Amino acid sequence: MPTSVGASAPPESSPEPRHDDDHDWFTRLGNAVLTTDSRQRRTLGLLLLAALVTATVVALLVYATAIGVAQARHIGWLAGFFGIFMVGFYATIRSGLNRRFSDPTLALPQVMSAQSLIATGYAMTGPVHGATVIMLSLVMVFGMFSLRPAALRVASLYTVAVMGAVMYWCVRHQPEHYPARLELFNFALTAVVMIAISQLSGQLMDMRTRVKTQKIALEQALTHIKEMAARDELTGLPNRRRMMNLLQEHATRHARGGPRFYVCIIDLDHFKSINDSFGHAAGDAVLRAFASQAQQVLRNTDMIGRWGGEEFLLLLPETPPGEPTLGVARLRDTLAVMPASPSLPDLRVRFSAGFARYEDGEPIDQAIERADRALYAAKSAGRNRSVVL
Ligand code: GH3
Ligand code: MG
Ligand code: MG
Repeated sequence: MPTSVGASAPPESSPEPRHDDDHDWFTRLGNAVLTTDSRQRRTLGLLLLAALVTATVVALLVYATAIGVAQARHIGWLAGFFGIFMVGFYATIRSGLNRRFSDPTLALPQVMSAQSLIATGYAMTGPVHGATVIMLSLVMVFGMFSLRPAALRVASLYTVAVMGAVMYWCVRHQPEHYPARLELFNFALTAVVMIAISQLSGQLMDMRTRVKTQKIALEQALTHIKEMAARDELTGLPNRRRMMNLLQEHATRHARGGPRFYVCIIDLDHFKSINDSFGHAAGDAVLRAFASQAQQVLRNTDMIGRWGGEEFLLLLPETPPGEPTLGVARLRDTLAVMPASPSLPDLRVRFSAGFARYEDGEPIDQAIERADRALYAAKSAGRNRSVVL
C-alpha cells in the first residue's frame, strides 16, 4: 500500500474561481456604500430604493415645470428637502447611529418624512396636485414591508392629519387650483386608502407570523427526521448508514493528515440461542442492554453503532501500537459479571470481535472486509475473543 498521505484526497487548495476585476470592483463599491453587515445592508438597500423612487418623482416634477404646471422655484425647494432627508438618513444608518434607536430601520421616521414632503409637493403642484396623492400610497406600501401594524397605523393617521391640514391651507390660499369640493373628495380618498393599508398590514403580519411558525415547525421536523434516519430504533445507537458516513469522514480526514483509526466488528456469540430459549423480546432487551453497556464502558472518542442484527461496528481512533483491543477487553470483562438484561439476571453475554487498522488511501469497504475476516477468525478460534488483522 503506498503511504503517501493524501494520495486519494482532493487537492487541498483547489484554485479559486477567478474573479472578474469588474466584479471585484462592483463588490467593493457595494460594501463601501451598503456596509458588510447584513441587517444594515437591508436597511440601507430599502433607503436606496426609496431614493430611487424619489429621484423619479423629482424628474417628473421637473417635467411638470417644463410643461408649465409647476414652478421651478418650488420644485427646487422640494428636491432640496428630499436630498437633505435622504443624505441625513443615509448618514445616520451608514454611521451605525441608527442602532441606538428601538427600531434601527428608522422606518417610521422615514415614512413620516416622506409623507410630509409629499404633502408639501401637493401644495406646490397647483393644477396637477391630484397626481401626488398616489405617492402617499406608494410610501405606505414601503411601510407595509418594514413597519409593524401599530407603527403603520401611526403613519396612516399622521398622513391623514397632515394631508387634511395641507388641503385646508390650499383651499384657503389657492382656491383657483384647490376647489373645496375636489379637496373634500381627495381627502376622503386619502383617508379610505390609509385605512385600507393599515388593515392589510395587519393581515400581512398574520401571514408572516404563520409562515414563521410553519418554518420553525418544518425545521424541527427536519431535524427529527434527520435524527431518526441516523439512529437505530431498537438500541438508540447510530445506525449502519450513519456509521458508514462516519467511517468515510474519518478516512477522508486521515487522508488530509488526520488521525488513523481502527474498525472493529462485534458479533454476539450464540445469540440465536438466546432468542430460541427466551423469546425474541428477551433477545431485543439483551441487544439494548449490550448497547448501553458498550456506551458506558468504551472511551468517549470511540464510536459504536448497530451494524445489523446482533452485530455492532466500532470506530476507534488509533491507540498506541498493540492496544486497539483494550476498550473491547474492558467491555468483555464488564459483561462477564453483568446480567445480560434486567430480566435475565443469570445470563451473560459474550461476543467475538474482529479488528482492522485503516490503511492509507484504501477504500473504507476494504477495511470493513478485513474486520469481518478477523471476526470470522475469532469465531473459528472458539469465540469470546478479539482478533486483529
Ligand atoms: P454466532 O455465535 O456464530 O454469531 O451465532 P449466532 O447465533 O449469534 O448467529 P446467527 O447469525 O446464527 O444468529 C443471529 C440471530 O440474531 C438470528 C436472528 O434472529 C437474531 N436477530 C437478528 N436481529 C435481531 C433483533 O433485532 N432482535 C432479536 N431479538 N434477534 C435478532
Ligand atoms: Mg451475526
Ligand atoms: Mg452472533
